[in-house]
Amino acid sequence: MVIIMELEATAAEVNAVIEEIEKAGFRAFVNPGVERKVIALLGAMDIQKAQLADHFAALPGVERVTRISAPYKLVAHATRPEGTQIQIGDVTIGGGTLTIIAGPCSVESPEQTLETARLIKAAGANMLRGGAFKPRTSPYSFQGLGKQGLEILAEARAETGLPIVTEVMDIEDVELVAEYADMLQIGARNMQNYRLLQRVGRLNKPVLLKRGPGSRIQDFLMAAEYIMVEGNHQVALCERGITTFEDATRYTLDISAVPVIKHLSHLPILVDPSHSAGEWRYVAPLAMAAIAAGADGLLVEVHPNPAAALSDGPQALKPERFRALVADIARMAKALGRTVSLPPEE
Ligand code: PEP
Ligand code: MN
Repeated sequence: MVIIMELEATAAEVNAVIEEIEKAGFRAFVNPGVERKVIALLGAMDIQKAQLADHFAALPGVERVTRISAPYKLVAHATRPEGTQIQIGDVTIGGGTLTIIAGPCSVESPEQTLETARLIKAAGANMLRGGAFKPRTSPYSFQGLGKQGLEILAEARAETGLPIVTEVMDIEDVELVAEYADMLQIGARNMQNYRLLQRVGRLNKPVLLKRGPGSRIQDFLMAAEYIMVEGNHQVALCERGITTFEDATRYTLDISAVPVIKHLSHLPILVDPSHSAGEWRYVAPLAMAAIAAGADGLLVEVHPNPAAALSDGPQALKPERFRALVADIARMAKALGRTVSLPPEE
């Protein structure tokens, strides 16, 4: 249930509504809203409590009460109809801007990471990605450089000015990763690791939440709710492909997720065409499709020498292909009336 206050509702009226909400056994979340205050009721809704809608609607200063039948509340579009924008230094995620996050799958060495950072920045990327803690299918595969990887990312940020996003896989690493990262990534495999979601929910730092390959959009949104209910509202979602019967690509990019999530939620939705494709040749067309569908940005794997990559080489774009992709995206963004930082002139 969401209570929408009148434009001219006073602070006293808002407080009186919050008191009534708490009396009924809910927690109230007030969206500071640009136009008018919207108050979301947090807690389990039973039939009797749902009947309180009429009571709330009659309180002074209340314009109307909207029932949200979905189990998520803070994530719901009605809670923040103006849309969420996340600010990371000079970078904005959401609100009509396209954010391009690029970098290697794994941080492998200072040279590899710095070279990639320089090249993606020159191509027009807004943020650098790279895994220091890697979730690998095989325990014998490269697991990431851990703390050393975080230090390399910080070095790349110091040199290029690009904010960094990197994955945190375990509760015990959250503090360490948060010390270095500008944004924490929760990987697809951990989308339903609820304790980890709660832990990053207690940080004051943006979170990039990737969709689990076997998760419905509703499960994805509930995972974001787990983070937000702990107090951290800086959540960006990332569609990265789901498991289907189709095996010509690594996963099937669920393009539908973009307009559906835009309809259901106010959170920004990014698309990762790299992990869904699994092969570099499909990355650019999927990236273009994502932007056309309304995505707020992209997460693209780029490697200066894909053949030598320690993880996900086959799906990594070479820097020159990435540069061409950003130029295409910039042209398409312009046609769609969206903003994107343009790659520097040749
Ligand atoms: C990644 O972004 O490097 C990654 C491991 O992605 P996902 O969690 O989507 O598989
Ligand atoms: Mn990867």
